[in-house]
Amino acid sequence: MTTASVNERIQLIVTGKSKDSTCSPSLAKGPWEFDGGPVAYGPGASSEDVIPTNSPKQGALPNEYKSATDEELHERIRAAKETLGDKVVILGHFYQRDEIVQHADYLGDSFQLANAAKAHPEAEAIVFCGVHFMAETADILSAENQAVILPNLAAGCSMADMADIDSVTQCWEELTELFGSEPDAEGKMPVIPVTYMNSSAALKGFCGENGGIVCTSSNAEIVLKWAFERGQRVLFFPDQHLGRNTAKAMGVSLEEMPLWHGRKELGGNTAEQLMDSKVILWNGFCSVHKRFNVGQIEKARAEFPGVRVIVHPECPMDVVDAADEYGSTDFIRKAVAAATEPTTFAIGTEVNMVQRLAAQYPQHKIFCLDPVVCPCSTMYRIHPGYLAWVLERLVAGEVVNQIRVDEKVSSTAAIALERMLAAKPL
Ligand code: SF4
Repeated sequence: MTTASVNERIQLIVTGKSKDSTCSPSLAKGPWEFDGGPVAYGPGASSEDVIPTNSPKQGALPNEYKSATDEELHERIRAAKETLGDKVVILGHFYQRDEIVQHADYLGDSFQLANAAKAHPEAEAIVFCGVHFMAETADILSAENQAVILPNLAAGCSMADMADIDSVTQCWEELTELFGSEPDAEGKMPVIPVTYMNSSAALKGFCGENGGIVCTSSNAEIVLKWAFERGQRVLFFPDQHLGRNTAKAMGVSLEEMPLWHGRKELGGNTAEQLMDSKVILWNGFCSVHKRFNVGQIEKARAEFPGVRVIVHPECPMDVVDAADEYGSTDFIRKAVAAATEPTTFAIGTEVNMVQRLAAQYPQHKIFCLDPVVCPCSTMYRIHPGYLAWVLERLVAGEVVNQIRVDEKVSSTAAIALERMLAAKPL
């Protein structure tokens, strides 16, 4: 099984030569084609939905950054970083492209990175090379005097945007009408809201306010146990797959996990289905992980007998069931690092991370399960031009693209995050 590198694939898409590509068409655009356009920071940004008129927008990136060569940009980034010294920390997500990751002080998942930011109170600016919700979490967890910067405001997460605060509030009202809001004889509330880290700050705040909690892909089972100790059922958003895969492994049957479709009465379910439920799943998904399928696993096994198939729990249930192992990005990274004998790994997660693992561990054969290499198209919008721009503005004493979570949302979101940490310290 051969796979093109991420950059080769993007070039093929841009030049129209990748006929078999089913990647997001937005990858064919230069990242600055979104500047000042309909894509902005806020609900719906990444999926190009209609967005609130007051959402901040990415202004036009100055031409000097668009026309600079890659080498010039890297040189400018290095120089600005050196000038800023300890005043800046650059964070790069595992799924970020290599041209950015090479400048990062820390590489990790969203929560590890937010904690890395917290561990550097001397840094006045935290440049988060990820997507909206990650920068928001870093703003919630970092100190008052630290500015969190997202280099391109058009870098959202399509999954996070699938659950907005209005739709979740509407769902909550319908559920409250159906179940009431009083605890049962055992003191358990009718519903406990649980949001995946990959959600807006507003939803984390909603959970904080309504007795709920946040989870990551590493601790989803611990968090669900926490929720079942306090509630008769869980409302899990936005990722249906993480919710389903985790609850199924805990013994919850599929019949007890109805899917909630926004904009339909009772989410498209009967009152009886909801009464009998244990986990109500929001109808969200990750466009990157939904690309994996069982056929790819069968092909990998046929081609490489003995292959170890590891997938992320954001993959659909049949893929997780067919894999040898599943777990968070950190689980996957550790599984590869721990392999003492040369091993063939077929991995079902974002391709930038898979290709980085392949380069880091040449003693193993490591490839992405999906031969049509598609990176996370929104994370990809953090181009080195934007990184150079935000850093050089900092050198000039100006903070651009600061992510500021409203104070009330921030305090309630922090409650939901603290509950997660108390449920199981990471
Ligand atoms: S990989 Fe999926 S969940 Fe992660 S940022 Fe991209 S769209 Fe969102």
